[in-house]
Amino acid sequence: MVRRGGLVAFPTETVYGLGADTFNEAAVLGIFRAKGRPPDNPLIVHIASMDDFWLVARSVPESAWRLAERAWPGPLTIVVPRDPRVPRSVTAGLDSVAVRMPAHPVALELIKASETPIAAPSANISGRPSPTRAEHVVSDLCDRIDLVIDGGETFMGVESTIIDFTRDPPVLLRPGPYPVDKVEEIIGSKVIVTNQARGFGEADRPLAPGMKYKHYSPDTPLVLVEYTGDLEELVESVRSHVARALKEGKRPAILASDETRSRYRDLEERGAKVLSMGSRRSLAVVARRLYHGLRLVDEIGVDLAVVEGYPEEGIGLAIMNRLRKAAMTFPVTT
Ligand code: AMP
Ligand code: MG
Repeated sequence: MVRRGGLVAFPTETVYGLGADTFNEAAVLGIFRAKGRPPDNPLIVHIASMDDFWLVARSVPESAWRLAERAWPGPLTIVVPRDPRVPRSVTAGLDSVAVRMPAHPVALELIKASETPIAAPSANISGRPSPTRAEHVVSDLCDRIDLVIDGGETFMGVESTIIDFTRDPPVLLRPGPYPVDKVEEIIGSKVIVTNQARGFGEADRPLAPGMKYKHYSPDTPLVLVEYTGDLEELVESVRSHVARALKEGKRPAILASDETRSRYRDLEERGAKVLSMGSRRSLAVVARRLYHGLRLVDEIGVDLAVVEGYPEEGIGLAIMNRLRKAAMTFPVTT
């Protein structure tokens, strides 16, 4: 299917991808059309062996190669200079290319069977929460793509960590499941982590192309309450947002955690919907459920959702990056 120029949605360990043959420009353009993706938002090239790296990269810094050998297959994307054989539409005109080897048997088999690296962004309508279940892909893209391979719920739930090795020192473009301190340990030097990588503003000066756009958002307005280390303060702040909404006659939802959900029982009795994202003791589970939770908000018929923040430790950095973007109001929407 991929070899014939088709668009195939497939599971990876992070989220579902929408794939096409990297070297088939018409197929690649089909991805942008199906998703409604702005053409200046580049795709990630998925490979199944270290040899494939040379099909798409013009050069690979020694540290990036060493990192790839340790981290792949896994949830880490490495940005390196683009080989001229990679169509410009894949990289949105950039001279660099983002490459990753996914740690999912179905993804690896698909790439091997297709005998070509697979260019793929997340398999959602542009701007919506990324798909972590085949149902999410079907509900977004059903009649626009050729095939969905259902591999059940993805293991990690948020997109790969992206590190840009065209800069020295390397720069974190997007936090994900692969820890930045592990990258630093392997390459033996620091990685630059900016406030933007944490998910804060500056939509007009994006760290990486594509990041200026609305991302990960339900249609329902989302309010994020940041966690500053004091759970009591977080609960009080969520309560006041929700109480105000109820007073204004709105129907609010709370995306709570196992530890806090009982604190909203009175608000629930007054009509607020309360969902738990999981326990604060296991942020990996919160990450896995994150996009499903954001999608549910649109399905339960509420006017706004208030979501609790999490500590920026480990995968918490990726969770907060996605929540800040999901809750952000962008001048440009896609
Ligand atoms: P998605 O898989 O939907 O999260 O999209 C892939 C993301 O990877 C894009 O939004 C970009 O932010 C990033 N990306 C892909 N290629 C490059 C590149 N050459 N340089 C910097 N970032 C990139
Ligand atoms: Mg995406």
